[in-house]
Amino acid sequence: MGDHDNAGGVTVDDLEAAFSLVANDIRFRIVQELWEARQAEALPMPFSELFDSVDVQDSGQFNYHLDKLVPRFVRNVEDGYELTFAGEQVIGAAVSGVYTDTDVTVDGIDVGECTDCGSTIEARYEAGRLDVQCVDCELVVAGGMPAPPVLAASHDPESLPRVFSQFLLTRSQSLTRGFCHHCGGRIESSLDTESWDEPHVQQSCQACGVDVGMAVEAVVLDHPAVVSFLYEEGIDLRETMIWDLDWLFDTEVTVASEEPLRVELTMDGDDERLDLTLDETLSVVDVARS
Ligand SMILES: [Zn+2]
Ligand SMILES: [Zn+2]
Repeated sequence: MGDHDNAGGVTVDDLEAAFSLVANDIRFRIVQELWEARQAEALPMPFSELFDSVDVQDSGQFNYHLDKLVPRFVRNVEDGYELTFAGEQVIGAAVSGVYTDTDVTVDGIDVGECTDCGSTIEARYEAGRLDVQCVDCELVVAGGMPAPPVLAASHDPESLPRVFSQFLLTRSQSLTRGFCHHCGGRIESSLDTESWDEPHVQQSCQACGVDVGMAVEAVVLDHPAVVSFLYEEGIDLRETMIWDLDWLFDTEVTVASEEPLRVELTMDGDDERLDLTLDETLSVVDVARS
């Protein structure tokens, strides 16, 4: 693959720079000090102030490391130094714990009741992945969803079910809106009518190549017709645990036409039902209530 592989044109030099930054104490402290100054709205930070705050004896050594950070992570402007977007990302990665807190685990906690079989929905977090599924039947809310350790580590145990639900909802919304959770690159969604029992959504990042499979129901979750239908059924999407949305997991999605491709799904309410038709780009092309 050479220097330029397919991960968004990232070169080996870029990666070395990023990882050596995290690994080197002085460089990391420079970035940290600039981050704190940014929080205090005190950027740019003059050279002398930065040198004092990092507290290195030898100015030659300090200069050497500061030079390594410019221009990729630190920008040298007229009145001093400030962080670039990449520099801020390093702080984000450090705080989220993705490179350090590999031992954060949450052992099977009970988060709710399975809408399929009435048994327990269990959530577990291990090795940076979140699984939410029924302990008895085959219902899977999330299988191996990548999630940063800070998600599990910074909340008290009682609030974790809600945190996990909100995280999964947010993640599916960002994918549906076209943003990759790995790299921020563009996600392209397509309908896959062949690999599964029923049509599924395949989402692929055009920058880093990550692939995610998703239920068609999850893609229409934000559609105004769905939001209002649920609201009239007494369900506020923002307040509901996603594993309580039974139609998200047991709605039948059928291929209504091959040419042009149309898939249909139906949501049953107490008195009414909602029928949605989607085309191959996953746009909702028809809504009917009956
Ligand atoms: Zn079940
Ligand atoms: Zn990506």
